[in-house]
Amino acid sequence: MFKPHRFLGFGFAAADLLIEIDGHGRVAFALGAGEAVLGVADHALAKKHWRDLIAPDDQPMIEALFQGLDDGARGGPVSVAVAGGKGGAERFASFTAIRLPQNDGAISCALARASSHSAARLQTPESFEARAAELVAGATQDLELAFVELGGASAFTVATNDPLGFESLVAGALRAQAYRGEAATSVGLDRYALVRSRDEPIDAVAGRIARILAKAGVDGVSPETAAMPLSGASRPRQVAQALRFALNQVLEQGLSKPLPADLSAALDQAMRAALGKAGALGAAIRMRRFQLAFQPVVKLADGTLHHHEVLVRFGSDGSPFPTIRMAEEMELIEPLDIAVLEETLAVLARDPAHVLAVNVSGRSLMSERYIDRVTTLLREQPHAKGRLMFELTESAAVEDLALADRHIQALRQAGCEVCLDDFGAGAASLAYLQQLSLDLLKIDGRYIRDLQHGGREATFVKHLVNMCAELKVRTLAEMVETPEAEEAVRLAGVDYAQGWLYGRAGEAPQSAAAFAERRKAGGEGPLLRRAALDRKKDWG
Ligand code: C2E
Ligand code: MG
Ligand code: MG
Repeated sequence: MFKPHRFLGFGFAAADLLIEIDGHGRVAFALGAGEAVLGVADHALAKKHWRDLIAPDDQPMIEALFQGLDDGARGGPVSVAVAGGKGGAERFASFTAIRLPQNDGAISCALARASSHSAARLQTPESFEARAAELVAGATQDLELAFVELGGASAFTVATNDPLGFESLVAGALRAQAYRGEAATSVGLDRYALVRSRDEPIDAVAGRIARILAKAGVDGVSPETAAMPLSGASRPRQVAQALRFALNQVLEQGLSKPLPADLSAALDQAMRAALGKAGALGAAIRMRRFQLAFQPVVKLADGTLHHHEVLVRFGSDGSPFPTIRMAEEMELIEPLDIAVLEETLAVLARDPAHVLAVNVSGRSLMSERYIDRVTTLLREQPHAKGRLMFELTESAAVEDLALADRHIQALRQAGCEVCLDDFGAGAASLAYLQQLSLDLLKIDGRYIRDLQHGGREATFVKHLVNMCAELKVRTLAEMVETPEAEEAVRLAGVDYAQGWLYGRAGEAPQSAAAFAERRKAGGEGPLLRRAALDRKKDWG
């Protein structure tokens, strides 16, 4: 039967293939490059169900796209994987749909070949940010970051005990509304974000998703929405930063707080928040609102205490790492390293028996001011000579090895040993070992943890120790957690060890006697255990 409206329905898109889906979901009509787009010749398409044409993972999205179609309005384009592609050559298509009121409920679909397609599930926040920034950079339309809150959805999934089914329904429904069917993520409980075209108001999305959920039998969920235009910045880094700020706001405060007006407003607010945090961190450093923790380091030859590493703690006992990172980014690491050093010198002054190693960031080490301050302090406090050590961390920040070496020499002349931290991880590499005058080298924990199983780590450590011996650099193994790891580093010829086996970082440094006592009292201490092992060997 000739249906003139059919062609009206197709008049909206540049396409390689046009198909019409009837009220039963079957192909009523196909025209174009069926073979090229779907791998099925046009004549063989007739009467096929649309589900036979689309990869299973993408079916929930197409289902949602169809169900969300308002009369006369377009859905998509979204990118889909074509059925039957797994294993063989994967095919992708851009898919657009429209339902014209004159067409008896039939849906006109336009397909064009596409080279790739986004994941069928919701993305992680990180990949969402990155993809959204790319979309903004390449967009031909005005886009917005839309949030959809499905209050009560988790209660529904608990009641029906089908979280996966619900997740795939929601992912499909969101992607069907997303720009090119891409970039949707979840933002905490019952809340989602997507990038969409601004060509229709956000309220339409809420209505459509409500309809899709109702058709799928999901009751008691009424979507709420909010949106922020993705305009006002175009550099991907800035876009991603602004997006992260908006996502965090919604994660922490829901949709009750108005969203920033656009990307540049989000960037302003992000900057102000960062300055606030930097101000707070700067004040914490000035007011010395941090504590020091002390972790023992032992001499492997006899198991005695050699020194303690000083680790900073902010408030909780948790790792200072995120705060250290922030301090590095906000140029507060140097005042922090100086503050930690001054507090450490005070501990050394109180108890002449201790030897302490402070961490110094590569950034601080590069600074003339830091080195001046250290040498002045050491001149004023000669008692610290020979009892203070430095561990060079974050060595990625060392841009100039010759300058770094001059500064290291100055520290050594002032009576301090210098250790290169985290060797084998990140930037600390052979060039550092070659060009810096070091007393000690700390082998990164990742090599130590796996050492006991033999293999490549053991070979690496053995060669490293030999090389250091030739260079007259002593070696230290961190993250020694088990007697087996201790045995392995000892066999490799490492000089010192540190790790949970000998104790976590404590509130105060221990005296050598107290440390020995504690190890003995531990009974099952590694050295005792080793002695037992040796005995077993001797006695067969
Ligand atoms: P790092 O200098 O490599 O310190 C060793 C880290 O490993 C510490 O984490 C310590 O608690 C942890 N650790 C020690 N033994 C074990 C073990 O047996 N197993 C495991 N899994 N972990 C162990 P922490 O205290 O979270 O410090 C993280 C990093 O923060 C330090 O790594 C250091 O780079 C930096 N840091 C700490 N204090 C300061 C400071 O005052 N200034 C600077 N610039 N950086 C600091
Ligand atoms: Mg360290
Ligand atoms: Mg380390």
